Amino acid sequence: MKRRQFLQNSTALVGAFHSVQLHELNHMGTTMFPAADDVVTRHVGNIKTTIYKDTTHKYMAKNYFINAAPEELTQALTKYQITPDNIPSPFIAVLLEQGDKRILIDTGLGFSEKPVMVGNNPVPLNGRLNQLLQQQGIKGSDITDVVITHLHPDHIGGVYSDEGALLFPNARFHIHEDEWSYWFSSQSVNQPAHFRFFIDRNVAKLKDGNLHLIKGDFVDLLPGVTAVKAEGHTPGQLALIIHSQNDRMLYTSDAFLHPIHIERLDWQTSYDLDHAKARQTRMKLLDLAHKDNMLVNAFHFDFPGLGRVDKTNNNWTWRYTNK
Ligand SMILES: [Zn+2]
Repeated sequence: MKRRQFLQNSTALVGAFHSVQLHELNHMGTTMFPAADDVVTRHVGNIKTTIYKDTTHKYMAKNYFINAAPEELTQALTKYQITPDNIPSPFIAVLLEQGDKRILIDTGLGFSEKPVMVGNNPVPLNGRLNQLLQQQGIKGSDITDVVITHLHPDHIGGVYSDEGALLFPNARFHIHEDEWSYWFSSQSVNQPAHFRFFIDRNVAKLKDGNLHLIKGDFVDLLPGVTAVKAEGHTPGQLALIIHSQNDRMLYTSDAFLHPIHIERLDWQTSYDLDHAKARQTRMKLLDLAHKDNMLVNAFHFDFPGLGRVDKTNNNWTWRYTNK
């Protein structure tokens, strides 16, 4: 078989495998949900873990893979059936239910009837998390804890309603202290205006509320939840190990924006603040997932972002699965 022919065949195979896996995921354990495609449940031991698709966004390869050689990039994009100007990505939030705890991880983009004005730019907020939670019979006041993995818009947008009401009034909010101190110090003054807008609108007021700043690394944060430092994307980004009985899931937040970042640890994104630390974090999380045989949940991967990492001859690969 000629190389080109082989590549075409293997790409087709990858594509077929990929869709079958997602088809199974979307129909497993979710038939009771009115919007099955946007809500996926998978128990981690005793913890009922529900992943919500808040919204989707389109990213560009020129921002996702800023230092990739063009030919290698084309090959990688072809494997995942995406084009340079259209990398679709969900925003997600995860609810953990166990005993009397209802822990929400990240809050989505938020929702507003009319676009919000960031400077002179109208920005539509079309996050559906709040609506999806209500459809599941979960009220904002039921949430006991909210873990915010970092203070970017797609993770903090849903803290307050359009009218400025705290959507989770009984929750304790957990954020790493390195993340908090970065965004509330002069270090972040040059960050883009829309980042500052979301911080002011959705995080600043938490200072006077039920806020817990996490210190250190590998912190036993809540029952079944261990907080792991995952800096690089931002200075205090968190990954989370969700564990119960012998089952474990690693929520990687934005340490990897696409499976290609697992397969090419040297490919940088314009969204990471510190490329060297981001790379160290990627290796740290991959080793962790591999060593403890953890399912991985990646925020920006094809919904619901569940899969496993495999290692062959020091090369990492990603496989979508919920097993
Ligand atoms: Zn993100």
